[in-house]
Amino acid sequence: MNRRPLIAGNWKMYLTGAEAVRLAQAVAATSGACLDRDVMVAPAFTALAKVCEAVRDTPLQVAAQNVAWGKEGAYTGEISPIMLADLGVRLAIVGHSERRQIFGERDAMINRRLLGALAGDLQPVLCVGETLEEREADHTFSVLEQQMRQCLQGVAKGEMRQMILAYEPVWAIGTGKTATKEQAQEVHAFLRRFLAEAYEKSVADEVRILYGGSVKPENIDSLMAQSDIDGALVGGAALNAESFDRIIRFQ
Ligand code: PEP
Repeated sequence: MNRRPLIAGNWKMYLTGAEAVRLAQAVAATSGACLDRDVMVAPAFTALAKVCEAVRDTPLQVAAQNVAWGKEGAYTGEISPIMLADLGVRLAIVGHSERRQIFGERDAMINRRLLGALAGDLQPVLCVGETLEEREADHTFSVLEQQMRQCLQGVAKGEMRQMILAYEPVWAIGTGKTATKEQAQEVHAFLRRFLAEAYEKSVADEVRILYGGSVKPENIDSLMAQSDIDGALVGGAALNAESFDRIIRFQ
C-alpha cells in the first residue's frame, strides 16, 4: 500500500514568534526540496499566525498542538477550530501524552476535541500510547484498544479516512529511549488491524500511522523501513533545523 510519508514536528512550549518563523522557513525550504513526502510543524498557539503567513506559499503544513470544539463559547484558555482555520491552520494534534499526563485530559475529552476538529475541517492527528507500567504489565494492546475505541467514538468511516494516527509510547517521549523498530512495527500493525475491524480494510490501508518517541537522525531510517510506519511525530529533534532536515530526508 502506497501511503505518502509524513514527517511532523511538535514544537511544544518552545520558540517565540520570530524564532518559530526562522525555523519554519528553514523547514519549508527542506520540504520544498522533498516533494514525495509531507512535512508538518505544530508551533505554539502564539506563533501560529506568523508561521502560517511565513509559509503560505510553500508545501509545509501547519498544525495546532490542541483544539477545542464548537464555534465559540465560554471556554477560558481554549481555541476553537474556526479560529485556527481562520489563520490557515489545517491540522490539529489531539490526545498528546503531555495533555493526558500533565493536564489530565482523558479519552472522553480527547474524543470531543477530535470531533470538534473534524466538524471544523481540521485534520486530526490522534496520539495514543501506553506508559512504561502498562507495557511492563503486558497491557500495551488492551490500553491501546481502549484509547482507540473511546477516542474514535462517533467518528464515521469517511472521517476516519481523513485522520492521521500517531503511536507515541509515553516511556519514549523526551526520554531518549526509542521503541525498537520491531516494537513500533508490532503496535502499528495492531492499530491497522483495529482500523480494519472497526471500519474496513480500505480505511486501514489508507490511514497514515506515525511513530513518535525520541525519533532522531540516527534512528529515522530504520523506523521508516517498517511496513506499517508511515512517518514520524518528532519533538526535541524537530527544534533544530539541521536534525529535522535529516529526519525529513530519511531514506
Ligand atoms: C512528541 O512530543 O510527540 C515527541 C515524540 O517528543 P520527542 O521526540 O522529544 O520524544
